[in-house]
Amino acid sequence: MDRMLQEFLELMAISSPSFGERQMADTVKQKLVELGCEVEEDDVAARIGGTAGNLIARLPGDGRGEPLLLSAHLDRVPNGDNIKPVIRDGILTSDGTTILAADDLAGVVAILEGVRRIRESGLPHGDVEIVFTVCEEMKTQGSRNLDCSRLRSKVGYCLDSSGRIGRIIRAAPTIVRLYIDVYGKAAHAGAEPEKGINALKGAAKILSELEEGRLDFETTSNWAIMKTGPAKNTNVVCPHCQLIGEVRSHDPQKVEDYIAYVQRHGEEALAEFPATFTLTRSNDLRCFCIPEDAPVITKLTEVLRGMGREPWAEKGGGGMDANWFNAGGIATVGVATGYLKNHTPDELLHLQDFADSAEMVYRLILAFAEQ
Ligand SMILES: [Zn+2]
Repeated sequence: MDRMLQEFLELMAISSPSFGERQMADTVKQKLVELGCEVEEDDVAARIGGTAGNLIARLPGDGRGEPLLLSAHLDRVPNGDNIKPVIRDGILTSDGTTILAADDLAGVVAILEGVRRIRESGLPHGDVEIVFTVCEEMKTQGSRNLDCSRLRSKVGYCLDSSGRIGRIIRAAPTIVRLYIDVYGKAAHAGAEPEKGINALKGAAKILSELEEGRLDFETTSNWAIMKTGPAKNTNVVCPHCQLIGEVRSHDPQKVEDYIAYVQRHGEEALAEFPATFTLTRSNDLRCFCIPEDAPVITKLTEVLRGMGREPWAEKGGGGMDANWFNAGGIATVGVATGYLKNHTPDELLHLQDFADSAEMVYRLILAFAEQ
């Protein structure tokens, strides 16, 4: 445990914002090489405008079993520099002014330590593929651009879910970002306002009666941002206004149905108002749903029970790297490593769960070698 905590604190001290993971990638790459892995970095940095690409590492086995994918991400959300660790009653936190970055350093260190124990044990094992992604916290841009055909694994574990150890995320929703652009007409607000069309008012007409929030048990939407043009004054009739929202569901058809509804609703709302609008989408994240009796879950369940921990599998509400591994044909679940309240200054890590996460990785690798 001391070794894990030491490694966690070492990595925690490295600045690693999304798009700025260079030093973290170099440090982790060196560790992987020391563990006997072949390591490559892909070309994602250039494609997304970051300083580092995804690290793709392979620990060669002796040919037994099937290859296994382990993944975590290198970046962290903002307010993650100069973290001052505090340990109390078996729980690690920051001093309350920053995040802790256990999301996702707990996953990174658990994988490194699990692999280290495999090496130290000298026990035979199969191939292990490790992917440490960049920019997970920025709409999963690292994994979104990862070429999954470089990987041979058919099953994977993404150690990047909040919660106590034992929590397995077997499903994640489809998420689509939506833009409503309302176009009016500029005119001098004092001299000839009758020649203008107020796009802001058109947007308000659409938004005021738009269904959002919880749409059903597995579908939600949220309209969060309203933007107008560069006008800094009230002397121009507003010519353009953009509404930005999202819709997410575990049923992708319901996402498409909602988008069709937004289009119809917009047309009705502006039927008697002269502004026009367009509806566009971006950042589509594709859902996945893995049955509870799939090997990727039953194997992990057996491992956790063998450690005296009680596993449970549930559906998650957010997007994560696992969405893209699943889209790439690798049945991948999210796995909790003991952190909670991530993305806030109250983020905490249960140290016993953290220690058990490395044991879990170690035993998983052995379990996949047994086939
Ligand atoms: Zn994360």
